[in-house]
Amino acid sequence: METSDDAILGKSLSGIITSWNAGATRVFGYKANEAIGKHVSFLAWPGEEERIESFLEKLRCGERVTHFEVVRKHKNGRKVIVSISLSPIVDANGTIIGIAKIARDITERKTIEQALAANELRLRKLTELEETARAEVLAERKFRELIENAPDAILQVDSTGAIVIANRTAETMFGYSREELMGNGVDVLVPEANRAGHAGHRNSFASAGVTRPMGLGLDLFARRKDGTKFPVEISVSPVPTESGINVTAVIRDVTDRKQAERRVRSLQEKYMTELESRQKEAERLNCLKSEFMASISHELRTPLHTIIGFAELLEEETEGSLNEKQRRFLHHIHGDSEHLLRLINDVLDLSRIEAGGLHLRTESLSLQAIVAETVNAIRPYADSKSVSVREGDHLDVCVWADPMRLRQILYNLLSNGAKFTEAGGEVSVDAAVDESSVRITVADTGLGIAKEECTRIFDKFYQVGFTPVGVREGTGLGLAICKQLVEMQGGTIWVESEPGKGSHFHFSLPHSLV
Ligand code: ADP
Repeated sequence: METSDDAILGKSLSGIITSWNAGATRVFGYKANEAIGKHVSFLAWPGEEERIESFLEKLRCGERVTHFEVVRKHKNGRKVIVSISLSPIVDANGTIIGIAKIARDITERKTIEQALAANELRLRKLTELEETARAEVLAERKFRELIENAPDAILQVDSTGAIVIANRTAETMFGYSREELMGNGVDVLVPEANRAGHAGHRNSFASAGVTRPMGLGLDLFARRKDGTKFPVEISVSPVPTESGINVTAVIRDVTDRKQAERRVRSLQEKYMTELESRQKEAERLNCLKSEFMASISHELRTPLHTIIGFAELLEEETEGSLNEKQRRFLHHIHGDSEHLLRLINDVLDLSRIEAGGLHLRTESLSLQAIVAETVNAIRPYADSKSVSVREGDHLDVCVWADPMRLRQILYNLLSNGAKFTEAGGEVSVDAAVDESSVRITVADTGLGIAKEECTRIFDKFYQVGFTPVGVREGTGLGLAICKQLVEMQGGTIWVESEPGKGSHFHFSLPHSLV
């Protein structure tokens, strides 16, 4: 025990030191006579006392403590780190009568371990710095590659106009090697004609510029080493450096785009010219057609008037009486001649309108008066069909229109209304005024019109397929003429209708306040 390097001591169960070897003196500094009889806690590093008590408690219960690292205090006050093993001492009856403690001084080992750990940490931190530096180099390389391979030429010039940065695209775009570009004046890349002003622009941009496209709205050109010019788009930005403000320029060769634009423009122009000439030709042919229609209709009317006049004379029987059969034949001749005359008149009207030959004489008109005249004109026909005609309550209003053409519109709509209404039904004319126009409505309680036909009926020669028995033939031109006449007078015409529920034809005309 005495020769052991370890401190070996005995303790009572309550912790009073009972034996102390030379090792203990070496480890803790106290001699045996200074230690024996004291409570073991006098060796505790401040704060460790409770731990000692908990060890004693374990030992009293017969447990062991092996290789436990604890901190103790040397006589000279320094810290001693020891690895302790405690075991109970039992008598011949197996009763625990004391505690044997072996404490090995591991202070030196611990110090070395801590120094090694600290060194390890420091090394790691070094390595970390290296990794960061490497990542920065990589990022820098990527950035450089990005710039080198950009589809645009990238140049930076210093305040004297010397090129300080040029990427690979700049070399291929301008035909100069990088060595030729670097340090040389940027003016060689500017066409001779624009060089004079270039330095001035560059200087004023460097002093006050913000990133922006250069020469906005202008066609810019650059010059290759071989002297050829090509169109470019340039975006410039100021870059403050230690030696003044540099200017970075991103230059795009727009030769292909400009060529494509030119091609599209010339195609557009070609098609527009073609379209215009075709339109003119179509208009000319339309005019010719309308003139032809007008003249042929006029030529047809003259003999028709003769036929109708003589048919009427014969019907009057002043030149001799007719038998029943002759009267029937004559009735057919008269009826069909009238129909043909209506058709010719309508064709003539429409041709004149389309050829621009119909001139309106617009004036302020009393709607009531015109409606009254037209209703009187239609009444014999309506009576013959037992259809009543009603003049509405709000007709006391003035409109700005051509009286003859307004009569024609109203007559067409009213005669259609009476034509497509069965006995016992009604046709009516009403009006409503809004801010600037008067809406006139010709309504009937007749046949009605399917939704899909409501716009087509305003087309030339369009008639809804089904015509009820007893309805006299029409020309299919009445509504087309009405539409043209209404629109020529600044209005619009439309219909609201449902099969079996009658129709409302509305048209608007300018409101006249005089
Ligand atoms: P039409 O001389 O045949 O009457 P319109 O141009 O005046 O020619 O009318 C075109 C077609 O519109 C008519 O044939 C008829 O089918 C339909 N139509 C016009 N007005 C009415 C109405 N009030 N009720 C029902 N159908 C109508």
